[in-house]
This record gives sequence, structure tokens and C-alpha cells, in this order.
Amino acid sequence: MRLLRDYPLDEFNTLRLPARAHYYVHATSERQVAQASDWARDTGTPLLLLGGGSNLVLAGDFPGAVLHLDLQGVQVEPRGGQQRLRVAAGENWPRLVEHCLEQGWHGLENLSLIPGSAGAAPVQNIGAYGVELAQRVRCVHGWHRDLSKFQTLSGADCRFGYRDSIFKGVLRDRFIITAVELELERRFRPVLDYPALGEALAEVSEPSARQVADAVIALRRERLPDPAQLPNAGSFFKNPVLAEADYRRLCEREQTDAIPRFPVSGGVVKVPAAWLLERAGWKGVRRGAAGTHTRQALVLVNHGGATGAEVLALAQEIRADIRRRFGIELELEPRVYGRDRR
Ligand code: FAD
Ligand code: NAP
Repeated sequence: MRLLRDYPLDEFNTLRLPARAHYYVHATSERQVAQASDWARDTGTPLLLLGGGSNLVLAGDFPGAVLHLDLQGVQVEPRGGQQRLRVAAGENWPRLVEHCLEQGWHGLENLSLIPGSAGAAPVQNIGAYGVELAQRVRCVHGWHRDLSKFQTLSGADCRFGYRDSIFKGVLRDRFIITAVELELERRFRPVLDYPALGEALAEVSEPSARQVADAVIALRRERLPDPAQLPNAGSFFKNPVLAEADYRRLCEREQTDAIPRFPVSGGVVKVPAAWLLERAGWKGVRRGAAGTHTRQALVLVNHGGATGAEVLALAQEIRADIRRRFGIELELEPRVYGRDRR
């Protein structure tokens, strides 16, 4: 295990925020993962588990060690009509989806172009256009930091929820995912329930997997800034979930019945955070080098030279405004690390 000191993280977060880590370890094997974890425990060093850095905010320098999970490799095993894949944590997610499309292994089309690593995908149970990773996960392999041993968790053990899992709950920072096992199909069954996707393919009678993936990619490119061009961390806030009565009150307050709502279980509804932000005038707003995207207010962007503190100050201003205006508490989706330098 090679320990590097005072390491810059600017290239390792898609918001391109300036920050340094006291230590940095580049892990390419399970052995290095176990060693780094035990070293951190023995020395009392906080550990930041890093994949592609597309779902985190660096408020400032990280006073511990960054463990960059860069294990590579995909093992495949055909099983009847299915294809099992064991994907190492450091594999790039969008490249994996493309590889599966080329091989004729189906089920990930709607999750095309989501940035990041395969190892981080179960953490937030990545989802888009009506599909969630959980539908394809057989199990997750990793290093349990408290038990100091490798373990395999079944899909059920992972307690997947809406953009949520056990890795954000009791196993937060405790379980280092080293590989994910997926179960894909040889037969293609398109999932086109998501209105925008259904509309994009309305003219195609039996869309192929490639066509569905291309439609998803086109929709994403139309609406979302490419982090390589305009640094961002995707959606900054989760969609709030409201009781039916609160939703009604919101409609009365806003004097409209047109607030989009999507049913969740047990009489509660999901309201798009993007709708609230747009309604409150937060689209394309700028505070110094930090701002909200002109096409999707939910995405906070770094126009160049913003610090984590600036981005977080904008997020707090938005949260306060949404609370005041709608009585709704927005929750941050990306995780915040490091010390605010102010
Ligand atoms: P990182 O940002 O490196 O880490 C995220 C979290 O996971 C951190 O808390 C980290 O400690 C932890 N972690 C990382 N790797 C491991 C590991 N191996 N073991 C344990 N913990 C780990 N998300 C969606 O769900 N749907 C979308 O459609 C979507 N679109 C996006 C679009 C853009 C433009 C961007 C920038 C982001 C988008 N995201 C989306 C968010 C992000 O891409 C996903 O959450 C992705 O899975 C993060 O992967 P990462 O490797 O970059 O994780
Ligand atoms: P959109 O199509 O404008 O829809 C806005 C919101 O409405 C989304 O958040 C979506 O919830 C919800 N929604 C729309 N149709 C729905 C349906 N039929 N059933 C349930 N919920 C529905 O969204 P967008 O911003 O362009 O994003 C498109 C997709 O990419 C979404 O699935 C979104 O989650 C995903 N995405 C995620 C991130 C991220 O960082 N997490 C970033 C970009 C895009 P859901 O979010 O639950 O789908």
C-alpha cells in the first residue's frame, strides 16, 4: 500500500472543487483495500471512500485519507437466459453499460450515461428513467471495516430504497464495496414507462436496446451539463416526499392543481424538487462562480473557480428559500466531506 501525503483532489471530484487530502491511497486490489482500512483503524485516521467523485461535495481539505477505489475487471458467467457479471468497483459505469449493450446483455439501458464507478452505484441505488440498479443486483462484495473481513451481501441485505441503501445507513463508511454482481437478460424488454422516454420513442414500434439507450443519452445530453464542460455533481437535492394532505395544502398555497406528483407507497407522493426550484425562480441563478444550471435548476454548477463553501452557501440559500416559500425541507443528495475553510 502506497501512502501519498497532502494530495490534491481537484481532479477527483466532478464539481472541480479545490481541496487536498492529508493522505491518498490508490487501491487496485482487494489486498490494498484491506490494508488501507486496517491502517486507518489502527491510526485513527478518517477514511473517505472515493470512486469517480460525481456524488460528493468537498467543502474543504479532508483531514484524513482518501481511499480511491480503482479495482478493475469484469468476470462473466452465462446462466440460461441470463448473464451474470461480477464487476470490480473501479470500473466506469457508463462504459460498462455500453459494453453490455455491445454484448447483447440487457437491463441497464435506462441507466446509460450516469457518471461514476460501478462500486458507488449500489450506494445510492442509482436510478433514472424508471429503472433502478437494485432490479439488477444479485449481490455486493466488499470489506467490512468493523469485522475486518470480506463479506458478500445479497440484494435484500443491501436494503435498497429510492436513491438509498444500507451503504448510506448503518453501513455508511463501514463497508468498502470491491465488486458488484449483476444479473442481466439476453432477451430485451424495454422499460418505457417514463413519459419523456416513451415520447422520445413514440414513433418506433419495437425499439431495440440500442435505440432505448440512445434515446436516454440524447435526453440526458439535452438537459444535463456534461461535468467535463461545466463541473457539477448531478441533482443537488432529493425529491421531497409529502403526505397527501400536505400535497393538497401546497396546491392551495400555490393556487394550482398542476404540481407534478408521483405516488410512492402508503398515501405519500413524490414532488419533483426541480419543479419547486423552478417555480421559486432558481433556474440559471448565479452567486459568484457557483450557480444553478440554466436548463435544470436542480443541478448546481461551478462556472470556474468556485469553492466548496460557495457551492454549499448557494445550496443553503436555496433550501432556506424553499422552506420559507413552500414549507418543504430539501435534503442534499451528494455527501459533503472536508472542512469548510471559512
Ligand atoms: P463518488 O462520488 O466517488 O462517491 C459517492 C458516495 O459513495 C460517497 O459517499 C463515497 O464514499 C461512496 N463510495 C464510492 N465508492 C464506494 C465503494 N466502492 N464502496 C463504498 N462506498 C463508496 N445518480 C443517479 O442515481 N441517477 C442519475 O441519473 C444521475 N445522474 C447524474 C448526472 C451527472 C451529470 C452527475 C455529475 C451525477 C449524476 N448522478 C446520478 C450521481 C452519481 O453519478 C452517482 O451517484 C454515482 O453512482 C456516483 O459514483 P461515483 O463513483 O462518482 O461516486
Ligand atoms: P424529469 O424527466 O424532468 O422529471 C422530473 C422529476 O419527476 C424526476 O426527478 C423524476 O423522478 C420525476 N418523474 C418524472 N416522471 C416520473 C414517473 N413516471 N414516475 C416517477 N417519477 C417521475 O427529470 P430529469 O431531471 O430530466 O432527469 C431524468 C432522469 O434522470 C430522472 O430519473 C432523474 O432521477 C435522473 N437524473 C438523476 C440525477 C442525479 O444526480 N440523481 C441527475 C440527472 C438525472 P426520479 O428522479 O425519481 O426519476
